[in-house]
Amino acid sequence: MKYQAEFRDRQLAEQLSLQIKKAITRPWKIMEVCGGQTHTILQFGLEDLLPSELELLHGPGCPVCVTPVSLIDKAIEIAKTADVIFTSYGDMLRVPGSSCDLLQARALGADVRIVYSPLDAVELAKKYPSKRIVFFAVGFETTAPANAMSVHLADKLGLTNYFVLCSHVTVPPVMSSLLEQPDNIVQAFLGPGHVCSIMGVEEYREICQRYKVPIVISGFEPIDILEAILMALLQLERGECRLENQYARAVVTAGNLHAQQVMSEVFSLSERIWRGLGPIPESGYRLAEKYREFDAQNEFPEVISERAESCICISGEILRGLKKPPQCPAFAKECTPETPLGATMVSSEGTCANYYKFKNTQIN
Ligand code: SF4
Repeated sequence: MKYQAEFRDRQLAEQLSLQIKKAITRPWKIMEVCGGQTHTILQFGLEDLLPSELELLHGPGCPVCVTPVSLIDKAIEIAKTADVIFTSYGDMLRVPGSSCDLLQARALGADVRIVYSPLDAVELAKKYPSKRIVFFAVGFETTAPANAMSVHLADKLGLTNYFVLCSHVTVPPVMSSLLEQPDNIVQAFLGPGHVCSIMGVEEYREICQRYKVPIVISGFEPIDILEAILMALLQLERGECRLENQYARAVVTAGNLHAQQVMSEVFSLSERIWRGLGPIPESGYRLAEKYREFDAQNEFPEVISERAESCICISGEILRGLKKPPQCPAFAKECTPETPLGATMVSSEGTCANYYKFKNTQIN
């Protein structure tokens, strides 16, 4: 595919692999933050191109995986309400709540619809004024601008039947939280390229300075990731802790100012519970006071208490890079993508799901 093949070039991958092997003098642990990067690493077998001294840790960057079970349960309860049309991207529909998922709720009669944009949900609100349309807004800073725009538009159109169930999480606080853990083993990060294309890079520069870790903002193709690993490794070997941008074709220092402006108008920062990790201060978005009438949490105020994870699930340790999926006794046995027991098996970007699907494939 045009503009993609050059970032999947086998010879270039082998050259980068050689440079990495030549540069390394001792063991290092580098975490890729983003679930999309984890997916590429496992899909293309990139770990097989790395020296044994270099360990990749797969981080918490899958927003579907870190959405708390209580919020999935709440989504299901809202979807079952008689006058509600519940809308969501497809990947949320089969994420298990404590007793069923949204697809099963639909099979039992709930009006649950897949949309490709929150603007489709706004269209439904225009088309069905006697229904309450709820959009399940899940994601990192990458999806937040379009979701903010939908609220802004609904307000402009005077719609009173459009609501957002907000489960947005933000990346820098979880990186800081990981680095502050007493058992932290992360020595450098590959930063989330798509998030930085929206938010810019300054928050990541602050993390480098505060915690003395190298961060390399990385793209998502195999060559991007190998190049970013090399850049991070060279910093580690030289004792540096700078921010570097491997993904310069998409990320500029300031990010997308228009997107940031609509996000800061519609959302405000709030504490978020991360499935597998627990609460992290100011690590998510909620609707700002001015837009509170569009908040599904206000419109459907019943509180659903948090459910405990399966007692054998070690996804919290996996999300912190402390363990790998095959170390979980349930991996590929009781726990599979069809029957997920924990956070990291529920989405195509989850580390356990990717290990299950790709662990034996090679770059080609
Ligand atoms: S394999 Fe399943 S049970 Fe084990 S850590 Fe992963 S999600 Fe949890």
